[in-house]
Amino acid sequence: MSSQITEIRVLSSEELIQQQAVQPILPPKYCVRCRKIIPVDMRYRRSKKYKGLVCQRCDSALWRSKGYAFELDFCRRLKKLGYGADRIPTSGGGGTSLPDVIVNHYEKGIRLAFELKLLNANAHKSWMVYAWKKDKKGKLKPSQLVKAVQYLQNHMSKGDMCKAGAAIKFVLGERVKSPIIVKLFDVTKDMKLKDVPDLPFDISDSSDMPELTAQTLSKRSRKIRKVRKDMTFERNKLKIVKTYEPSK
Ligand SMILES: [Zn+2]
Repeated sequence: MSSQITEIRVLSSEELIQQQAVQPILPPKYCVRCRKIIPVDMRYRRSKKYKGLVCQRCDSALWRSKGYAFELDFCRRLKKLGYGADRIPTSGGGGTSLPDVIVNHYEKGIRLAFELKLLNANAHKSWMVYAWKKDKKGKLKPSQLVKAVQYLQNHMSKGDMCKAGAAIKFVLGERVKSPIIVKLFDVTKDMKLKDVPDLPFDISDSSDMPELTAQTLSKRSRKIRKVRKDMTFERNKLKIVKTYEPSK
């Protein structure tokens, strides 16, 4: 904008009529879910399911309920594989030191604790789960991953095999199966919380719970995984070629 405001005044009604004739004011947009006007500064998206525009408020509510459904579905799948699994509903907020999901296998003597994350795979095909996150004031705050380690250290007994980790569901869209990738690391009693690793995720990564991930792979996600794996392979090949280039 190159024009500068030189004076501010209230337009007279004649001037307003004149201006609106040149620049008609657009009719307000309505959200098809909550039926409220979408404010000009609010984001919205077109939804196939709702056959119209969905406002940001509704979109985040829908996303939250999807996250809740994912936690339940994740536990259900683990139970089918012979684990005992529970989600902790209050794990998100508050000063608790509890992870999203706790799991154990009585016969194998395995204890697991998880941070769960739902990702829109159309926007993100890779993601980093940070152990420590900075808040608005720049202070480091423990993530669910650190809380998972804390939980395991508090509840482990001798001889238990304890692993903490994260499970990410890459949501590909409505009515498309979405792959769940799991990554785990060993937790010991004397492990320091500051040493909890960040976990990098990619939709093409191999999973630490292959039997669970295999259930969630559809034809489409297999294809995406293959294409991305080939891409990384090509990229790594290029890197190798580069290192062997003679330097001047
Ligand atoms: Zn709405």
